[in-house]
Amino acid sequence: MAEIIQTKLDVLGGGPGGYGAAFLAADRGVQTTLIDAAPKPGGTCLHVGCIPSKALLHAADVIHSARDVAQFGIQYGEPQIDLAAFRAKEFKIVDTMATHLLELCKRREVKHISGRGTFVDDHTIQVENGPQVRFAHAIIATGSTPTKLPALDIGSPHIWDSTAALKLESIPKTLLVVGGGYIGLELGTVYAALGTKVTVVELTPTLLPGVDPDLVQPLQARLKNEFANIFLSTKVAQLAETKGGVQVTLEGDVPEKQMTVEKVLVAVGRKPNSAGFGLDKIGVAVDAKGFIQVNEQRKTGVPHIFAIGDVAGEPMLAHKAAHEGKLAAQIIAGDTTLVWEPRAVPAVVFTDPEIAWCGLTETDAKKQGREVKVGKFRWGASGRAATIGRNDGVSKVLVDPKNDMILGIGASGPGAGELIAEGVVAIEMGATAKDLALCIHPHPTLTETISEAAETLHGLASHFFVMKKKVV
Ligand code: FAD
Ligand code: NAD
Repeated sequence: MAEIIQTKLDVLGGGPGGYGAAFLAADRGVQTTLIDAAPKPGGTCLHVGCIPSKALLHAADVIHSARDVAQFGIQYGEPQIDLAAFRAKEFKIVDTMATHLLELCKRREVKHISGRGTFVDDHTIQVENGPQVRFAHAIIATGSTPTKLPALDIGSPHIWDSTAALKLESIPKTLLVVGGGYIGLELGTVYAALGTKVTVVELTPTLLPGVDPDLVQPLQARLKNEFANIFLSTKVAQLAETKGGVQVTLEGDVPEKQMTVEKVLVAVGRKPNSAGFGLDKIGVAVDAKGFIQVNEQRKTGVPHIFAIGDVAGEPMLAHKAAHEGKLAAQIIAGDTTLVWEPRAVPAVVFTDPEIAWCGLTETDAKKQGREVKVGKFRWGASGRAATIGRNDGVSKVLVDPKNDMILGIGASGPGAGELIAEGVVAIEMGATAKDLALCIHPHPTLTETISEAAETLHGLASHFFVMKKKVV
């Protein structure tokens, strides 16, 4: 007879959405159980996503910086890479954080169960080779997995998904990246810095489709030098395993239709993990793409069962998952009137340069037929950008022409991912471009590019507004 555990809240999936929800619920006094298929919590983000990829990108960044400093007359030699040590460092970063999460479960008295869970009914989850958990409330936080392209799924060890690429088993001489989105460009950047000749094949006419073209442009210009080839509006028609590599057949406007590479990284998106664990049995509905359907409180059609994070819809980002998890936990803890209504969910592509945006983008404004005013500041005029030898960036602020309210902010350049947090605060606090221009930004920093972008909307220096305020 399987062990039976009674719990007030059962969280299924221990990624940033799931463990964030479990910890907050426990802090609010809700007796909580966290079930995750892996031995330690952390999910995609910690084990095979954000954290290992950013550790590898940090190393790539140092390699780039060492090369870029040549313009200051300082020369380093070619990097000597000890792959085993690099891998060990990546593993240690991840494992230390995962062990810490286990410790936090203990400290908060969250019962952590390692095993795959399946719904038996709408108040019971059976853990594979483990206990049966009976719950009053559940939060489904089962995340997502890489999308496979059936035509390219030839079962070869030379074909990687992001998880395989992060294992850093070898530095291939050549790598074909299928998909010029977040993962393709971030991991392409890592391998190119390690010395691999990287070719990117993107189906649409632009890298990072959907991102404002003026933000993508500085990245695309730099990647032209970093990558061997970038083929846009191109498709991989066929892959065939050869001795020690893969023969690739391309369709599109490319110089050669055939090429042979050592490895192929397929990074064409991710799909929600919503099948195979009994959702159909309990009446939790999914949409055509497999996302669990939820309302503004992240409740499914079964009101005591919530769904959050990647499994509950776009954007598939760790911070969005974490915030939805906290929302669900608070509602379960008794704050029953809360709803999901952020004005600005930030997004960062951690390439070199980084690209970051939040709130409304110019692309979306155009799609919606919404009129916006855009203030743009090119980093060629930034003192800080000059001191680091990187004047190719751009920052911009989108406002409502009726009242100057900031609707969106975007930036492309080194450290853009850090700059964007100011944009989120400005939008969430209902700031105007004038407010942003009035705030004194430290000099010389790249943060000035944001206030300068805001100032361009008014054509006046910020001191003018301060004077006017004092006089009136
Ligand atoms: P996940 O983190 O996917 O966690 C879900 C957990 O549920 C997993 O542990 C899974 O094993 C478990 N699970 C699934 N089914 C069951 C079941 N039936 N029973 C028990 N357990 C189950 N986002 C960012 O914001 N910034 C980044 O820099 C970033 N970089 C990324 C880099 C890569 C290479 C990848 C792949 C993703 C990256 N992401 C990034 C996306 C980010 O990882 C996800 O958005 C985030 O992890 C989603 O969190 P989640 O809690 O919804 O699910
Ligand atoms: P993505 O949606 O970012 O990019 C996939 C790309 O593949 C798109 O440009 C798409 O047009 C292209 N594509 C689709 N089919 C293709 C085909 N047959 N041939 C060539 N190109 C094709 O997806 P991803 O890069 O796999 O990342 C998945 C998700 O993970 C992201 O959308 C994001 O939500 C998350 N992620 C976030 C970060 C971050 O926050 N920095 C990093 C990595 C991943």
